[in-house]
Amino acid sequence: MKINLKDILGSLGGTISVEDDFVIEEIEIQSRKIIFPHPPQVKITLTNTQDDILVQGTITGEVELACTRCLEFFQWSFVRELTETYSKKELNLDENSVLDITQEIYQHLFLSIPMQSICREGCQGLCPGCGKNLNQGQCDCKQEAIDPRWEKLRQYLEN
Ligand SMILES: [Zn+2]
Ligand SMILES: [Zn+2]
Repeated sequence: MKINLKDILGSLGGTISVEDDFVIEEIEIQSRKIIFPHPPQVKITLTNTQDDILVQGTITGEVELACTRCLEFFQWSFVRELTETYSKKELNLDENSVLDITQEIYQHLFLSIPMQSICREGCQGLCPGCGKNLNQGQCDCKQEAIDPRWEKLRQYLEN
C-alpha cells in the first residue's frame, strides 16, 4: 500500500486521509490457511509531525478460519487499531515522495488472527474414534465403558 506524501511534506501538521482496500486473498500462519473473502478496509490518517510521519487508523475485515476443534471453516471479523511512526530522518522516500506501508499492514493482519479459533461456544469437535463432526450429532462409536476400579486412577491422572 503506497501513499504519496507530497501534499504534507512541506507543511508541519498537515494530514492526509486514506481509505482503501488492501488486496489480499489468503495467508498462511503456522500452516493454518486464512482466507479473506473480500479485501480488508484500511482507514488511516497520516500526519506530518515535528520528527515523524504519524500513521493512525484502523483495519477492518473478515476472514475465514478453520475451527481448531472441528476443522470447519467459519467467518470471523476483526477491527484492528494501528499506530505507526516513520522517522522523517530515516524515511526512504523515492523521488515521488511515496511511502510504502505494505509490510506494516501485513504485520497488523497477522496479529489480528487469533491463535485459537473456535467456531462457536461449546463446539463439540471431532470424535477421536471415527472423525465425525459431533456438532452434527452423535456418532455410533460406543462410549468407553469405565470400569469403576479404574475411575479413581483416571480422576487422579486428570488432576
Ligand atoms: Zn468448531
Ligand atoms: Zn465416533
